[in-house]
Amino acid sequence: MPTPPISFEFYPPKTDEQRAQLDKTATKLKSLSPEYVSCTFGAGGSTLSYTPETVERLRREHGLDAAPHLSCVGGTRAELSALLERYKAMGCHRIVALRGDLPSGMGHTGDFRFASELVEFIRREHDGCFHIEVGAYPECHPQSDDALADLRHFKAKIDAGADGAITQYFYNADAYFRFVDDARRLGVEVPIVPGIMPISNFTQLRRFSDACGAEIPRWIGKRLQAYGDDVEAIREFAADFVADMCRRLIEGGAPSLHFYTLNLSKPTLSVLSRLR
Ligand code: FAD
Repeated sequence: MPTPPISFEFYPPKTDEQRAQLDKTATKLKSLSPEYVSCTFGAGGSTLSYTPETVERLRREHGLDAAPHLSCVGGTRAELSALLERYKAMGCHRIVALRGDLPSGMGHTGDFRFASELVEFIRREHDGCFHIEVGAYPECHPQSDDALADLRHFKAKIDAGADGAITQYFYNADAYFRFVDDARRLGVEVPIVPGIMPISNFTQLRRFSDACGAEIPRWIGKRLQAYGDDVEAIREFAADFVADMCRRLIEGGAPSLHFYTLNLSKPTLSVLSRLR
């Protein structure tokens, strides 16, 4: 099966050890010729210097087309504009524009309430400089109790000028297909790329999934739990399952696949080797 274009998400390392890990991962994953890679941004400025430094490192030292994430919550127009100028100077032409989640205890919400306002701002103040990706939630955003309102809010980001969307990860391909169908019915025409989370550590996955509202189907949870500390068995089962889901997504028309790597190469490579 021909694989569609792929992209990888990294987080910005803060220590020398983490930097060495990212270098290793970036080197291995570069051999798969990703369309681009992206680097997350801690809402509220927790990675204010780390994200641009990492983007620059990935571009300069690894020759990757690295795109920064930019979360607006807690930031001011001036701060975000300065970052955008910095990214422009580095040669970045793609941005993943998000609202983000304020760390608990941080009261200052900043100049923007929603990602749609950030997209509008980038289009108004830096038009033509960036291809803008936004987040999408096939299983509904965790703070939303109205799936239809969530869809309309998603459309508002596209109407504000986003060029494409990357979804939160999921393990129900049908949720993705339904979300894409619903978005198309509302008139959304941009590519909606599934975000894929390979599985390497079930405890960590359960924690992430609780926080971001991604459902781990009961039978998968039960299976992973049953493997206990048998890391190899978890990896094999999970890679088979995630690769099967990717196959379905590609056959169903997904335009490309975006992998959440958590700065590790092995779980992503295990999935991709099953697809190639
Ligand atoms: P929004 O699109 O603004 O939506 C947030 C919530 O507000 C939703 O419930 C929506 O329905 C609601 N809403 C939107 N507009 C309105 C309106 N006008 N009125 C009322 N309600 C409204 N987080 C980070 O901190 N850093 C990252 O680097 C990062 N990368 C991510 C990458 C991807 C691909 C994805 C999918 C998520 C990422 N996140 C990241 C997480 C994201 O920041 C959180 O999910 C956050 O809670 C929502 O961000 P958003 O941009 O989707 O927000």
